[in-house]
Amino acid sequence: MGGACGVTRSSRTQIGSEPSSTQRAQGLRASGSPRLRYDLEISPDRLLGRVCAEGFRPQRFETLNRRCQFRFSAPMLEPDGEGCAQYEVQLRTSTRRFFGGIDDVLVGEHALALSQAALFLRPNRIPNNTEIRVRSRVSEGWRLVSPWPEENDELQAGPDGLRRLTTFGLVSETMPVRQLEVAGTALTWTRAGELAVPDDELERWLTQRIADVAAPVGDFPVERLVILLFPSGGGPSSGVRFGLVRRGGGASVVFFLSPRSPMSVLEDDWVITHELSHLLIPGMTRQDRWAAEGFATYMQEILRARAGRISEQEAWIHLVEGFERGEVRRRSETLAASSERFGNVSRIYWQGTAAFLEMDIALRRQGSSLLERVRENGWRVSARDQARSSESVFRALDGGEAGIITEIGARYASSRNFPFPRAMLEELGVQREPPRVRLTDEAPLAPIRISMTARD
Ligand SMILES: [Zn+2]
Repeated sequence: MGGACGVTRSSRTQIGSEPSSTQRAQGLRASGSPRLRYDLEISPDRLLGRVCAEGFRPQRFETLNRRCQFRFSAPMLEPDGEGCAQYEVQLRTSTRRFFGGIDDVLVGEHALALSQAALFLRPNRIPNNTEIRVRSRVSEGWRLVSPWPEENDELQAGPDGLRRLTTFGLVSETMPVRQLEVAGTALTWTRAGELAVPDDELERWLTQRIADVAAPVGDFPVERLVILLFPSGGGPSSGVRFGLVRRGGGASVVFFLSPRSPMSVLEDDWVITHELSHLLIPGMTRQDRWAAEGFATYMQEILRARAGRISEQEAWIHLVEGFERGEVRRRSETLAASSERFGNVSRIYWQGTAAFLEMDIALRRQGSSLLERVRENGWRVSARDQARSSESVFRALDGGEAGIITEIGARYASSRNFPFPRAMLEELGVQREPPRVRLTDEAPLAPIRISMTARD
């Protein structure tokens, strides 16, 4: 591999089957729904891929990762006469350390976490009704764990499968891959190395947290969910250090956790509840990151308190401390602008959290609640999801027509500072008394505060 991005043009042995004459005819007729067919041959070191476009004609195939950190045989290829192209990816040498930019290839001791950017070249243009079909052969001793649904030995996705990322696992057969049904979701979980906690206990922990998030809305809103536990260094008290939820074509969560943490530390974790909560509402665009993160951050406290994992007071301590960290006193850029460039991260998360707290109060004053509106919408993560705007999500939470949620959302998106929301907290009966908070039940909205964290 030489040159920028490891680019070399190389002719390789053909892999995958030649398109049949029927497939070829479809390609030439450009009729029916457009399809992309992939044939992959995967080993932990190297992936050989062949992609064919049917029913449409791309000008070129290119990598999903524009930053070009991949060892593709060629990051850009013109389709041949059949509308196909072949490529090769050096997987292990594409590694980047996490925290530096967790993107597309992570190498663990016994598994690789791969995004679509490591598996596929995609056409420069993907028609909106494109169906993606993938056949894969994995080298002996390894398995591909996929968040995309599988039918007739083919993985399937819609166009969003190549527009937004999710995480696939290439897992050694020495690791367990467990499948079970939890709260209406087909969960597959595995790990990339050894952990201090036995698998049965890990499984109980995962299923309980999924059930906590699902409880107020009925089922967990995902047909299939892949969870990959990734040992990532750290001491016994480090616990879950980071989580990454993605849903391009199917939902996945990677948890980076200390291999040395005992169950008692994992029991105290909030990251898992946060990441799973993201899936309760649709994925949103970049400038709406404040809304996505605000929702998940609010829910990580509310849902844990409702499930009895933390007390009501602990939940409010976390919220108050978060609002303090996110505070922006002076006039600054708007929250939406800050989200777009992922500027002040504390502000994005915690001002977003304050927005959802205010929305929940407003809905509860009307006898409803944020979780009730989420449940009424019945959102499900599907293989055909598209990122949505926060406005469309707020309107849906309003019940279809712009109302109080839309109004609060617009006000927060365009706000240029974030003063500590003292008045709102005082009405709820939450007073700062560092290092704790004092909860008073005489405050006007105390019944609303109590109902937020109460078990159903
Ligand atoms: Zn998040």
